[in-house]
Amino acid sequence: MRRETIRKTSPPCVQPNLDDYEKVRASFSWAKARTALLGLPGGRGLNIAYEAVDRHATSDRAGAVALRCVGRDDSLTCVTYEELARTTARFANVLRTLGIGHGDRVVTLLSRCPELYTVVLGTLKNTSVLCPLFSAFGPDPVAQRLTLSDAQVLVTTADLYRRKVAAQRESLAALRHVLIVGDGADALPGTVSLAALMAEASDRFTIPPTSPHDMALLHFTSGTTGTPKGAVHVHEAAVAHYVTALYALDLHEGDVFWCTADPGWVTGMSYGIVAPLMHGVTVVVDEGDYDARRWYRILAEQRVSVWYTAPTALRMLMRTTPRSGPYDLPRSFDLGALRFIASVGEPLNPEAVVWGKDVLGLPVHDNWWQTETGAIMIANFAACEIRPGSMGRPLPGVEAAVLQRGEDGRAMTTEGRVTVLEEPGVEGELALRVGWPSMFRGYLHDEARTAAAFAEDWYLTGDLVRRDAEGWHWFVGRADDVIKSAGHLIGPFEVGCALMEHPAVAEAGVIGRPDPVAGNTVKAFVTLRPGFDAGMQTRQELLAFARRRLGPAVAPREIAFEQHLPHTRSGKVMRRLLRARELGLPEGDISTLEKDLSFRDPPEASA
Ligand code: ATP
Ligand code: MG
Repeated sequence: MRRETIRKTSPPCVQPNLDDYEKVRASFSWAKARTALLGLPGGRGLNIAYEAVDRHATSDRAGAVALRCVGRDDSLTCVTYEELARTTARFANVLRTLGIGHGDRVVTLLSRCPELYTVVLGTLKNTSVLCPLFSAFGPDPVAQRLTLSDAQVLVTTADLYRRKVAAQRESLAALRHVLIVGDGADALPGTVSLAALMAEASDRFTIPPTSPHDMALLHFTSGTTGTPKGAVHVHEAAVAHYVTALYALDLHEGDVFWCTADPGWVTGMSYGIVAPLMHGVTVVVDEGDYDARRWYRILAEQRVSVWYTAPTALRMLMRTTPRSGPYDLPRSFDLGALRFIASVGEPLNPEAVVWGKDVLGLPVHDNWWQTETGAIMIANFAACEIRPGSMGRPLPGVEAAVLQRGEDGRAMTTEGRVTVLEEPGVEGELALRVGWPSMFRGYLHDEARTAAAFAEDWYLTGDLVRRDAEGWHWFVGRADDVIKSAGHLIGPFEVGCALMEHPAVAEAGVIGRPDPVAGNTVKAFVTLRPGFDAGMQTRQELLAFARRRLGPAVAPREIAFEQHLPHTRSGKVMRRLLRARELGLPEGDISTLEKDLSFRDPPEASA
């Protein structure tokens, strides 16, 4: 555990929403938090889309920009809250005309485009269930998820439909309607143009009564460790979306917010759409792919004030702009509007936190959550010191515990009872006390897996952590991912972090290789920064560097250079795939594997 901390030296220009962690936590209750939401008029319940759109459309925010969409060609499309209220009402009416109602499943297979927001929020208005899919999935994962989700409506583009769905359409018996965004529906039998349906629909729609416990969203997990699971979320999750964006992302009125996550996974939905709109801020939507220069330009030109991104993306930026400088690329843009940076999805190595401070002028605030938790659970907050490498402390309203683990890495249960470890510094499975509003209500069609995720009144996260004496949580690894070597338990993250402190290393994926003597030995796959040679000398230097940092018991025994580590589409290093390939094992489910290398370097960086 590193003791180094980052204190915010200059006073923030905006007073953080969470100014005193202990005080806010002590006085917090979810019931009180719920009062910040309006609820449907006439006491008809709680609907996410009403809180995200309609409440603003009937207030003095009606004319404020809700979405600012930057096209691939840099064109700009702005949508106000009032306009969004009308288009989402139209889509809700389209669904109603098609006979799609309460609880029916609407699946999107779309990249970021203005229509996506209309479809997501219109579906929620109609009290149907929205399930987003990655547009980069191939035909099999798409069909698998359409079947698993009981999809009745699919909204996609002509191109995606032709390439990924058409051939399998006959096997999708439940799929009643395919709506095509943009041109091309005429040439595709069995599809209808979304625009044509929208043109005929009224822009007035009264949201039907909605129970906070009605299913709203279905999210498939990233598939980092195995077959993706469909996590069920309800409208009540909105309370947690609101609170977490207030405290962990520090959203304020007037903010311009950019979440770079793909809308096909939970971050892109909870924080790319729902939470910021609930706060009435302006959401930047980039239709393009990652590109360092483009990203700096968007931050500057759109005057982004709060930025939520992923460790992989930050490490890609670090590759083009190392801390050793010069910072020519970011310095050529005016990032003066930026006030707060946060990251999620994977462990954030300390180097990346400090890089933010040096190069962008702001440290990166890591936070932790999962598809199952529906919202941020553990975070570094704007007003608090950062301990680089730590994911921070639990949000107000969230009770986290470290549970004693058994041989299999998961929390040990004896007759259904678990043991909470109070002592600081001890490693165990992270658990969350059941009862926060965005907790998933189960894995769809998988009761056994759902039941296995709970013990007593704890949700078991499957992640291993340590908590220090002051309550900061330190990620160790996924329970099924830690490496047992010569009696030591080694977290791949710890080894990766140490390697990434070396100036030659851009990214590292660490696995255990079976060994007759040690049980396992540690092997690291390393992506080098431009300008470093993947030769014996670098390898020896890195091995020695890691031994000095970690000690011989934990340091990697082997290093291989790999310029393209396998990532999930949501940006995580797929260690299980590295391991399977290394050991010649079956690759398993690779439907969430990033194939198009959209996390690529800009041309000037690939020296
Ligand atoms: P699957 O459950 O299908 O294997 P997944 O767990 O990667 O996939 P997600 O729900 O998208 O699917 O990711 C949540 C996981 O990501 C967490 O359980 C944790 O392992 C990792 N994670 C998220 N944020 C952080 C963070 N800040 N630090 C370390 N790990 C993180
Ligand atoms: Mg998971």
